[in-house]
Amino acid sequence: MTEADPQLTGETAELLQVMIRNACINDGTPASGGEVRNAGTVDDALDGLHLDHYEPISGRRSVLATVEGSDPDAPTILLLGHTDVVPVSPDDWREDPFGGELIDGEVWGRGAVDMLNLTSSMAVAVRHLATRDHPPRATVKFLAVADEEAGGTWGAGWIAENAWDDVACDYVLTERGGVPFDGADGRKLVMASAEKGIGWRKLVVHGTPGHGSMPYGADNALITAAEIVRRLAAYQPRAQINEHFRAWAATLPVDDATRAALLDPDTIQAALAGMDPHLSQYCHAVTHTTFSPNVAHGGTKTNTIPDRIELDVDIRTLPGVTDADVEVMLTEALGDLADRVSIEDPVTTRAATTSPSDTPMFDLLRRRAAAVHPGAEVIPWMIVGGTDAAFFRERGIPSYGAGMFSPKASLQEFASRFHGHNERIDLDSLGLSTQLWIDLADGISP
Ligand SMILES: [Zn+2]
Repeated sequence: MTEADPQLTGETAELLQVMIRNACINDGTPASGGEVRNAGTVDDALDGLHLDHYEPISGRRSVLATVEGSDPDAPTILLLGHTDVVPVSPDDWREDPFGGELIDGEVWGRGAVDMLNLTSSMAVAVRHLATRDHPPRATVKFLAVADEEAGGTWGAGWIAENAWDDVACDYVLTERGGVPFDGADGRKLVMASAEKGIGWRKLVVHGTPGHGSMPYGADNALITAAEIVRRLAAYQPRAQINEHFRAWAATLPVDDATRAALLDPDTIQAALAGMDPHLSQYCHAVTHTTFSPNVAHGGTKTNTIPDRIELDVDIRTLPGVTDADVEVMLTEALGDLADRVSIEDPVTTRAATTSPSDTPMFDLLRRRAAAVHPGAEVIPWMIVGGTDAAFFRERGIPSYGAGMFSPKASLQEFASRFHGHNERIDLDSLGLSTQLWIDLADGISP
């Protein structure tokens, strides 16, 4: 089946509206989130199914539902959806970000694309599979998790660590895929099969304290830190032209000379500099381990020369790059200022993860995409941020960022709604994603 079922589409939209209104805002603090509200909504939606709950700290509740399949040889599929959302700047929205209004065929609100749309479509698909007159071929687990937006500590990360047997599976399907677009060589859809690693560091820049009235020749840690920030911003490790980037580069609306230059580590920097920033940002991120100095703390008083400045650097690593490699890169970036800095142990670190794109599940995703969007070819995509898929990939489970969307929003417009203002999703996309999960559960072969 290819068409979305209008009944199920309506159910997904209604569930999405409730989940948006529950406003499970995760600001990164343990006391935020309140995903117990969306967990309760999932409980209500899946009343009668076998459910397990995880709540490692108060309010951060996750739910697991299981529907047994008919074919004992079929792989087990885990549908993984997060229930938290990031904060908003309400004044910049055209509609109430927590109103969950349906306006001109679109559901509005925080989480409408990241990722309550998919989480609600997964819940409705699982309910349909469990309550229709025949079971799915594959056993399907649906895990609605807290805390994805702050790294999964109280959600998928905790569950993978403490309740692995409950969520063990053969494939994971989660966010960040399925948006169609017209590339230079035809219609495409991205499905994520990899994501970059995280290697956050805190750099402590040292100086010598003194009186602010006599700055001449002073060893001012803030001035040293300013130069370190400049060097980090300018630092470019050598590009890695990986298979994900090759597939992506083929779709780019650039001339052949630019495309060739992008695929050569010696010329990619110059080619990026000449491109539209909307295109070059991702191209840069997917080919480089990146360093972004994003937080500075230090100094105590206007009349005191500071002896200590802390810099938080967001480092995102490519596949194959280790913690030791990051240390080498930092030393190279800092140059003769390296001995003025102590680097604290990694604050958050997780290696990049990659799943093969030649599995029966990825083949099925390719076939579903081509059925819904005739002629569309699927590109295995590398996410440059982080998702909960990493907890499963690093335990050897092929995990894909999937979904199925209508062409109503361009890939660029769609991407801008993640954590952006005026987040919204069209009903067709809600129906197509709901149908995708059903089709995968019925269509996957051993
Ligand atoms: Zn998300």
